Amino acid sequence: MTAVEIAPQEEAPRPWWMENAACRGKSDLFFPPPGERPAARENRETRARQVCGSCVALTPCQDFARSQRELGFWGGESEIERAEAGYAPTTPVIGLRRHRASARG
Ligand code: SF4
Repeated sequence: MTAVEIAPQEEAPRPWWMENAACRGKSDLFFPPPGERPAARENRETRARQVCGSCVALTPCQDFARSQRELGFWGGESEIERAEAGYAPTTPVIGLRRHRASARG
C-alpha cells in the first residue's frame, strides 16, 4: 500500500484592504475584553470608530464583516449595529437585548 501524499495548503493572500487597515496592531480597540462593562464598551467603540473614520478600507471591511457575520468592531460598525442592519453574527450579541430595549424607550 502506498501512502497518499498531501500537498501543503497554500495560505490565501490577504486582501489589499487588510494590508492597509488603519487598525493593524490595535486589536484591543476592536474586540472586547471578557466581562467588559457597557460604559467601557461605549468608550472603546467610540475610539475604534475614530480609527475606522480615517481608514481607506472602510467599505470593503464593512462588507466583509457583514458577509462573514463577524463579532467585534469592523468597518465603522459594532456587532450590534451590524445586527440592526440585518447582518447579525451567528453567535449571541452581548448587549443587543439591552440596546433594543433602550431604543424602544
Ligand atoms: S475600517 Fe476599521 S476595522 Fe476595518 S480595516 Fe479599517 S480600521 Fe480596521
